[in-house]
Amino acid sequence: MNTLLLAITAAALVTLAALLVFPRHDEETKVEEREDARVSPLLRGINYLLSDQPDRALQEMVQVARLRSEAADVYMALGEMFRSRGEYGRAVRIHQNLLARPDLPEPMRLQAHYALAVDFQAGGLLDRALKQYRKLLELAPDHVPALEASLRIREQSHEWLEAEALLSRLEQVKNTSYHLHRAFLFAQVAEQALRDGREEEAKDYAHRAIDLEPACAPAWFVLLDLALRRRDWDEADRIVHGLAERNREHFPLVLPHMMRHDDYYQERGRSCLMEIWQRAPDEELALSWIELVGERDADAAARLQCELGFQPENLRARLRLEAVFEKEGDRLFARAWRRQVTNYICEMCGVGVRELRWQCPQCHEWGTMHPQKGDIA
Ligand SMILES: [Zn+2]
Repeated sequence: MNTLLLAITAAALVTLAALLVFPRHDEETKVEEREDARVSPLLRGINYLLSDQPDRALQEMVQVARLRSEAADVYMALGEMFRSRGEYGRAVRIHQNLLARPDLPEPMRLQAHYALAVDFQAGGLLDRALKQYRKLLELAPDHVPALEASLRIREQSHEWLEAEALLSRLEQVKNTSYHLHRAFLFAQVAEQALRDGREEEAKDYAHRAIDLEPACAPAWFVLLDLALRRRDWDEADRIVHGLAERNREHFPLVLPHMMRHDDYYQERGRSCLMEIWQRAPDEELALSWIELVGERDADAAARLQCELGFQPENLRARLRLEAVFEKEGDRLFARAWRRQVTNYICEMCGVGVRELRWQCPQCHEWGTMHPQKGDIA
């Protein structure tokens, strides 16, 4: 709604300014002002806007645009309004019509290209949006919003190397470094290569990610998976210790990778984890470990808890443990809680998610999700 209000207000102000600059040479209009075909829809539009009736305000603005067909700025604002109401087809038509005008001033042309691309993106037509951003970037290569939007689309489409190329352009234009972002993109390339069986490429990109950002956990996971595939257990141990040193916060996420290879876990991984735990015990490692073991065998999870000497110190930790040890026939309250609880919080925008994502689903920043700790808020 904010965008809609802004768009309507912008259109109203632009039109009002135009009418004030070019007033009518008719002194008898005071009384008949309501009849003035140019002013009335605008005033009515503002009135509807003030009385919180955006739909009717929009109708009036359509009328303004019809009466002042030369006013590209009114059309631009109208396009914004349609888009903010989810009427993407109408927004697209307005912006396409604008672009078809041969007399459209250059700055307005750039704006219309951008607006059209945003229409397509908002409507989920990502290919067409990308094409439109590309056209705009041919005209204005340093257009930061177009570069950022294209980057977002490439990331959404998992086209990581194309995303990385856009990131480089943004770095040049904004004269800044996005090494952390790049590290995560390389880690995604590595994951994709690993899934497709291109192991050398996976290894190469995982190392490139770690060189850029030593705490880039998903890149370490790729290296670990590669070592475990090769049954190179010494290397796997080195990787597990390497990650524990560099990113303790996300370290517990290594557990499923280790436990997927049960022979490694039983013979080497378990004692490797115990060593790390004894050197620096932490709640998240204990809980994640007990939970994972408990998925297969609650008795083994109880033995592990004993061996770790772990006692929960807050309600969240107690509930997580209870969820592991609740038995069928109990009310299963803790399990129900565990299924819907937020486990990670984004430090940038504050959004909470259950499953970790390296890129925040709300603000799209990379590596900003942290495990939720302590008592339940
Ligand atoms: Zn966020």
